[in-house]
Amino acid sequence: MHLRYSYRLYPTAGQRAALARTFGCARVVDNDALAARKEARKGGLPYPKSTDLQKQVITVAKKTPERAWLASVGVDPLIQSLRDLDTAYRNFFDSVSGKRAGRPVGLPRFKSRKDSRQSLRFTRNGFRIRSNGKLNLAKIGDVRVKWSRALPADPSSVTIVLDPSGRYHASFVVDVEPVHLPEVDAEVGIDLGLTTYAVLSDGSVIDNPRFLRTAEKKLKAAQRELSRKAKGSKNRAKTRRKVARAHAKVADTRKDWLHKQTTGIIRETQAVYLEDLNVRGLARGRLAKSVHDAGWSTFRRLLEEKAAQYGRHVGIVHRAYPSSQLCSECGHRDGTKPLHVREWACGACGALHDRDLNAARNILAAGQADRLNAPGGPASPGVAIPRQARPVERGTHLGDLPRTGVRAAGAGGIPVP
Ligand SMILES: [Zn+2]
Repeated sequence: MHLRYSYRLYPTAGQRAALARTFGCARVVDNDALAARKEARKGGLPYPKSTDLQKQVITVAKKTPERAWLASVGVDPLIQSLRDLDTAYRNFFDSVSGKRAGRPVGLPRFKSRKDSRQSLRFTRNGFRIRSNGKLNLAKIGDVRVKWSRALPADPSSVTIVLDPSGRYHASFVVDVEPVHLPEVDAEVGIDLGLTTYAVLSDGSVIDNPRFLRTAEKKLKAAQRELSRKAKGSKNRAKTRRKVARAHAKVADTRKDWLHKQTTGIIRETQAVYLEDLNVRGLARGRLAKSVHDAGWSTFRRLLEEKAAQYGRHVGIVHRAYPSSQLCSECGHRDGTKPLHVREWACGACGALHDRDLNAARNILAAGQADRLNAPGGPASPGVAIPRQARPVERGTHLGDLPRTGVRAAGAGGIPVP
């Protein structure tokens, strides 16, 4: 399975200039290829072949006075940039033809020097890790890396990323063998909430981290400061970097926290069941901020990645399943409950429920039932799952998160873009 390993990079001023030049060249090559494809499309000509296009926008272009400067940078990242453009086109065509599930994918767009994130990919021919720990990039030089953890194997490629706060990262793709942890008996259902981060069916609660709120207050203050600065002024540019740094800080802190939580859950349980939340849908509504804050899709992705790596199971319960309406004691469907109702008593058996814990227990039961592949059957004594709650075509409705469809441990590993 392919995994990504990211490290902070510290290029020198000269290397930063060389990287900037290469970012620029990759962008131009990309845009030239895109323009040629659009031109062909408009003229009713056949879709240009990648190899021909590569020759046209790199090899031939280099010999013209307008594009002679392309020769000053390494050719490997330019070729990779065109490959990524091909992938973007393929995704678009597959999306149009219906071969690709999920959200519709648009046509690739022209890139701009103002794009907040710049990246370059190098294959095996374009980079080497030196014995002194520096990362050698063709025509860039030996770049200092902060090796925050060891690389488990030889990487097959590396992507150099410049983020809006001005930081450089190297993201390596490494092919690793899954290491299965000793099996445990515990299985949990997880209800992702807004008042707390998540409630587990065993009764444990993951609280929203307070330190994120603090980091966020700083971010807000920086944003207010930015809005007061005159457009185009030097001070505004400076403040914008400050805002970007604050953003990066919040994102890093959240990621670290999510890693910690998901690792803990995967270590302690054999199977984890989650609801297939429509995160994209929720994020558009009023709850937008807290949803992004909560980073649910990242939470799910990390669980799935770690499950694949450590031989655990992650099951997704379809979002039409009424986890908050069913009584986890007797299976009675008690009707919809507005968000503010935190506790309720079952109309049939009288059991008193904490809304989230009850939902987590239902998610566990539904997930286990799915896994046993027994549609309509009880998951555990006394818990009947109504037929109408089941999706018609299970497995084709992973919907909004098509890339995270790893349903069983070890099923294909982690998709690498
Ligand atoms: Zn009941």
